Amino acid sequence: MFETIQGEGVFTGVPSVFVRLQECPVGCAWCDTKQTWDATPQDETSFSEIMNKTQDSPTWCQSSAQGIVDEYRNQEYTAKHIVITGGEPCIYDLAPLTEAFEAIGCQCQIETSGTSEVRATDNTWVTVSPKVAMKGKLPVLDSALVRANEIKHPVATQKDIDQLDDLLERAKVPETTVVALQPISQKPRATQLCIDVCVKRNWRLSIQTHKYLSIA
Ligand code: SF4
Repeated sequence: MFETIQGEGVFTGVPSVFVRLQECPVGCAWCDTKQTWDATPQDETSFSEIMNKTQDSPTWCQSSAQGIVDEYRNQEYTAKHIVITGGEPCIYDLAPLTEAFEAIGCQCQIETSGTSEVRATDNTWVTVSPKVAMKGKLPVLDSALVRANEIKHPVATQKDIDQLDDLLERAKVPETTVVALQPISQKPRATQLCIDVCVKRNWRLSIQTHKYLSIA
């Protein structure tokens, strides 16, 4: 858990506390948080050790929802926007955590691959970045796409745009859902493709500003 600025999507620029949950079964080849994939027993540690981390590592700890909120208060963070990410956070029931944060006046956002059902309060902003045909062979769920407030699609080539079109049509995603294209790994060709398609479709461009700024 750490405080920073949200670097991508609709809330770009908003001071945020990130809660990074361990474990992900999706297996994206270009994943930039591979340290979160497994929760191996030898990497389990205490909450205070986790809070003292200064670099990415596969160490993790167990906590209740209230334990996370208590630590948020203990840290005296000022950001009221909570980004629950991973790993794949939706492998967990996030209703207790989002309820507990809302009870102290925070707003929650979940960042998910859409491969697990979203369990959270109605007020939670859900950002789905659909991960199609990855190593873990998990389907992107229509229920997650329909629940999404924002669909932020990682794009390398035209094939990714075609996949997104198929998903939007298949799940009958409401027109009110924000659709954003995000170039994978700041690649110039992917960025240009995203710009061209966004302009044509009136979609949003999401760039990972935290990577350009070299912040967490
Ligand atoms: S879903 Fe996210 S955490 Fe999981 S492998 Fe893909 S990019 Fe990494």
